[in-house]
Amino acid sequence: MPLDLLHKGHENATADAGPWLITLDAPSYLPVMQHAKNRALREEFYRAYLSRASSGELDNTAIIDQILKLRLEKAKLLGYRNYAEVSMATKMATVETADELLEKLRSASWAPAVQDIEDLKSFAKDQGAAEADSLTHWDITFWSERLRESKYDINEEELRPYFSLPKVMDGLFGLAKTLFGIDVAPADGVAPVWNSDVRFYCIKDSSGNPTAYFYFDPYSRPSEKRDGAWMDEVFSRSRVMAQKGSSVRLPVAQMVCNQTPPVGDKPSLMTFREVETVFHEFGHALQHMLTKEDEGLVAGIRNIEWDAVELPSQFMENWCYHRGREPSPEPLLRHNGLLVATA
Ligand SMILES: [Zn+2]
Repeated sequence: MPLDLLHKGHENATADAGPWLITLDAPSYLPVMQHAKNRALREEFYRAYLSRASSGELDNTAIIDQILKLRLEKAKLLGYRNYAEVSMATKMATVETADELLEKLRSASWAPAVQDIEDLKSFAKDQGAAEADSLTHWDITFWSERLRESKYDINEEELRPYFSLPKVMDGLFGLAKTLFGIDVAPADGVAPVWNSDVRFYCIKDSSGNPTAYFYFDPYSRPSEKRDGAWMDEVFSRSRVMAQKGSSVRLPVAQMVCNQTPPVGDKPSLMTFREVETVFHEFGHALQHMLTKEDEGLVAGIRNIEWDAVELPSQFMENWCYHRGREPSPEPLLRHNGLLVATA
């Protein structure tokens, strides 16, 4: 189990023999839920994970109540019925279309989900699990993983060596070249970084001219990094902010992930989900970096509706799956600054 914790400094700790410190960060939490045979440990973890920041000194409950109250008040002041309407006012979707989509998904997935649970129960029963008839939250992930192993003779941990970080980045950058005609070149040392694991890259157009730069901070560092993954801008492309002698300031992006760190001299071996996450964030970064717009205030990801901004990221994610078709040279068209797949 790749648990990030050799850094906590137990003298004789090794990746194989422990002792391990297990935290509630995703690279730690998920393997426990998938692989810990000790059901009581899974329950303890599940409850601890779900009740983060809800008791004691760090209890956020009162703050959340206050936020909800203020949001409703804001909605009323602005003439809306609720905060969902305020939020949707600047997005592509409306509360109604979002509800419709959710209902469509719910009704389409209900029966298969019920069937999945039944399959899981009977599989657990066949394996002699005492909890087979009462599978609950801290059992589902564990037994799903066992069922997958039995069906495909492989579990997610065994897939990791196929997704080493250097291989994944090579694949991602190769894809970007095929789709957009760009080269991604390492540019470490060109700009200062905040941690020695952070990489710096340059994007070059087909003539080899730099058109953008980005930072990539891949690994989970629980003591100083929050959960999840995100992309944001460092600089937007801007004519006004150009330095003397150049026509435009090039965009710079930052991509931050929380994936499994390397252990020993092996590179980071990623889960498939972590691979999707990198592709997703790179989709956002591309929209920011490949913009042709020279007016900084509307360049890249700026002023794009929050739901529309997820199009390029989801688009890139889909390339993680083999769909049996070679990427065609012109699968994209530009429309109002957004990348949209052609039909
Ligand atoms: Zn996103």
